[in-house]
Amino acid sequence: MTKGDLIDRRQLREFEENLARFVGTKYAVGLNSGYDALHLSLRAAGIAPGDEVIVPAHTFVATCSAVVNVGATPVLVDVGPDFNINVDLIEEAITPRTRAIIPVHLNGWMADMPRIMEIARRYNLVVVEDACQSLGASIHGKKAGSWGLTGCWSFYPFKILGGYGDGGAITTDDPDVALFVRRMRFNGEDRDTGEYHGHGFTCLLDNLQAAFLDVKLRHLPHWIQRRQALAEQYRQGLEDIPDLALPHYEKPGFVHVYQNYVVRSKQGDAFSNYLKENGVEVLTQFRKPYYKHKALKLVDRGFPETEALSREVCSLPMNVEIDEEEIDYVIEVVRSFYGK
Ligand SMILES: *Cc1c(COP(=O)(O)O)cnc(C)c1O
Repeated sequence: MTKGDLIDRRQLREFEENLARFVGTKYAVGLNSGYDALHLSLRAAGIAPGDEVIVPAHTFVATCSAVVNVGATPVLVDVGPDFNINVDLIEEAITPRTRAIIPVHLNGWMADMPRIMEIARRYNLVVVEDACQSLGASIHGKKAGSWGLTGCWSFYPFKILGGYGDGGAITTDDPDVALFVRRMRFNGEDRDTGEYHGHGFTCLLDNLQAAFLDVKLRHLPHWIQRRQALAEQYRQGLEDIPDLALPHYEKPGFVHVYQNYVVRSKQGDAFSNYLKENGVEVLTQFRKPYYKHKALKLVDRGFPETEALSREVCSLPMNVEIDEEEIDYVIEVVRSFYGK
């Protein structure tokens, strides 16, 4: 701040290098938000009006809005019990207009990327990963955000690596995509020559945010271990309750980073309200699926798993500041709801 290093300075470049190294890609480009990452990824891939893009029916609305805002048509596909896109339903959603697929890695757990990449290869589709909730997650050692054309990141304060305001990035191995996004985030300008390479946007990651994020990134591996330990404490305390589904999935090679610890309670609102009344802060994202919001003008083809989990979701407290006694208290409240 004393040097006036506010826009596109050393701290941004260093954070980009460290983020790319962490994810395992050649490039990272800092942006203002996860939404910008999705939006510019689709533009970089040339997605345009007339194209269809497959997105999950259960995700944060920004995944879908990015598709609509480049003029393309989102095609929604239901999710599976692990909250991620149901890979068995992807092929029947593909048409001659399908150009891309956006798998979302929700809550810190990755969509089945080996199978999704195989389908994408067969149908010649672009894959853009919405990895906004899964920094550090991996499958067979290959990290989220390193599988598709781009990985899209958000550093919104609620995320596993959160800034002190909005922030985002893409990661990619493609030099042309990195260059395109670098220019488009700064009004289309090549900052070395002053040449405008297209009508762009203003959506750089603030230098100040990059400086904070670069420090926090060093702690992330340790924080992930801490989250995994807390998740294990929840599992041991709650796994004997039949009406409660816990987010532990047996899939060899998949690593969960527990950005969120989302359980499914058959008792829905009665469960989440009971926790709130007993001093446990919980989130219920999302009780109303985004495609049911009329103004978005989306087609509800019927998504039974999304409907069911929307009634049942409840995120229990999960962060690195919480201690074991607090988790024990949450476990006690949940058990008392179930008369245990
Ligand atoms: C947070 C999030 C986004 C959008 O990130 P912003 O930085 O808030 O724009 C997109 N997709 C998912 C799955 C997210 O969790």
